[in-house]
Amino acid sequence: MDEDRTKGKLFVISGPSGAGKGTIVSRVREDLGPNRAVLSISMTTRGPRPGEEDGKQYFFVTKEDFCKKIQEGGLLEYAEVYGNYYGTPRSYVMENIENGRDVILEIDIQGALNVKKAFPEGILIFVAPPSLSVLRDRLTGRNTDAEDVIRLRLSKAVSELSHIPAYDYLIINDVLEEAVKKTESIFISEHMRVSESRMGRLMAEYEGE
Ligand code: 5GP
Repeated sequence: MDEDRTKGKLFVISGPSGAGKGTIVSRVREDLGPNRAVLSISMTTRGPRPGEEDGKQYFFVTKEDFCKKIQEGGLLEYAEVYGNYYGTPRSYVMENIENGRDVILEIDIQGALNVKKAFPEGILIFVAPPSLSVLRDRLTGRNTDAEDVIRLRLSKAVSELSHIPAYDYLIINDVLEEAVKKTESIFISEHMRVSESRMGRLMAEYEGE
């Protein structure tokens, strides 16, 4: 009654690699409770990193399969990032929204802007590191990328910051706990927006008194 959950909402989270998007998203999902928010699993042509599994972090596919999916209209958006393709499977997103579950897309800026064009009601959240030196330390610390890849990601991060004005919310991930709380507050507030269905329920309640 106090929330509009007739339909789910689409939340798009972007930010430089190493900003902490993944950690924030999994904490928010955990705290919101089961089945409140689902994570869309993207399709990619990049190879799995150590520890990554097909269908978990990504659906790992060949370039041919990816192109086929585009031609079928099966991707909500797609983009080329660092020479590999990444895309969002359309059906999973639509089905969950229709069933009242929020869907989270953890995608790059090009993808986020494309989603906003297709779904103006999508909510764009940018996660930024508190400084570039913190970002460098996080990228080095996770030991998954070579030095030249880290350099590429750092220079990309600087150009990515210029797109923040296209986003609805900016979360600066300095202290993780606080960043998680702030992100959760966005998920909660977005369901408190004035809507016809909420107004209808409220009026019915008052009239029944
Ligand atoms: P990584 O290879 O580090 O997992 O991801 C590289 C970049 O691709 C990240 O910025 C990530 O947000 C982006 N990405 C992941 N999935 C998608 C997707 O489905 N669409 C788009 N446009 N970008 C994606």
